[in-house]
Amino acid sequence: MIKNLSHIGIAVENLENSINIFKNLLNQSDYHTEKVESQKVNLAIFKLQNFNLELLEPTLDDSPIKKFLDNKGEGIHHISFEVEDIKSELERLKNNGFKLINEQPVMGAEGKLIAFVHPKSTNGVLIELSQKEK
Ligand code: ZN
Repeated sequence: MIKNLSHIGIAVENLENSINIFKNLLNQSDYHTEKVESQKVNLAIFKLQNFNLELLEPTLDDSPIKKFLDNKGEGIHHISFEVEDIKSELERLKNNGFKLINEQPVMGAEGKLIAFVHPKSTNGVLIELSQKEK
């Protein structure tokens, strides 16, 4: 079941610059940075009370974030929902006709299992499922 927002992912050209912007915006100096190989991104995570903000910078030219920046420019890239059991949610969505980018979960930031649902089946919004830490 989808009940909570996990995070909002924002595509950025330059992670250092964006970290400074969001430090000031949120008035928070605490953040976590990580390179996520499966998504070809460097990211920074700002943890808020009920959800996180994830800033995403491409590491390679064939990174999905690079493609997004080239087509649309900086901005909201995806919305991530927290789920208890990602495999059963993927199964449910597939059975309901949603187009999945990841039929099987992949490793995301902070060792969490994630999977993306294609924006063509969700009104143009890239949706990520993120399995809640047990
Ligand atoms: Zn994400």
